[in-house]
Amino acid sequence: MTADDNFYARFWGVRGSIPCPGPSTVRYGGNTSCIEIHCNGSTIILDAGTGIRELGDMLMKNGPVDTDILFTHTHFDHIVGLPFFAPVYSADNTVRLWSGHLVPEHSLEEVLCEMLMAPLFPIPMDIMAADKVFNDFKCGESFTLKCGAVVKTGPLNHPNRATGYRIEFDGHSICYVTDTEHVEGQLDQNIVDLIAGADIFIYDCTYTEEEYPNYKGWGHSTWEAGVALADAANVGTFVVFHHEPTHDDAFMDAIAAQASAKRPGTVVAQEGMVLTP
Ligand SMILES: [Zn+2]
Ligand SMILES: [Zn+2]
Repeated sequence: MTADDNFYARFWGVRGSIPCPGPSTVRYGGNTSCIEIHCNGSTIILDAGTGIRELGDMLMKNGPVDTDILFTHTHFDHIVGLPFFAPVYSADNTVRLWSGHLVPEHSLEEVLCEMLMAPLFPIPMDIMAADKVFNDFKCGESFTLKCGAVVKTGPLNHPNRATGYRIEFDGHSICYVTDTEHVEGQLDQNIVDLIAGADIFIYDCTYTEEEYPNYKGWGHSTWEAGVALADAANVGTFVVFHHEPTHDDAFMDAIAAQASAKRPGTVVAQEGMVLTP
């Protein structure tokens, strides 16, 4: 990576469901979903899982923070890091928060405030002094962020709904597609359309094809279904993501070997990994 790289992804949390720190997950990492997209000198954040804590600490070292957090959905593993994201506590900072799965029944501000409500949590939202701007959009809409990135969105197949993202900047694209379940033997056309020709395609690969029958209907997919989507949509790099917490480093190494044998160039997400489209 060189200093003039102005669009790249860095992984701060790669797990699904619940953090799983410990000696058996130290290489791939134990934090839940959080990805930093560095774009044109700004930071876009994908989901606020537990990985967002360390990202926030890094951002705080570089002066006032002005960032956009795009939420796929509001299941706990994707939002629970928000109150530990240091930039939200300083009035010097601006945090724009986006979600597309809640309207018309709910709003993002309402749902996040509920998570932070006593006796579930001691710190209410109004103590977070940053300038917070909540943006509820209708999944399927497109919009442009302050940094200049164009964001396209599409619906995923997940309980309580979820939004897939395609982030485009300077002729390159990174797609973030989690949490979602495939239908066996079929391609999800919403996803194929969203990711068509993308440089990087990050996908919910919670289970292996062998494990999947035990978890049908839980809203998650497999790396094998991800490879089929990646091939159908002619994407560049396919990234295995949202790892099952019981999959230790040895298990993830085996998935990495199998997935890259099936689709050369496939990458299994690890904490700290940087990918440039
Ligand atoms: Zn999840
Ligand atoms: Zn979920």
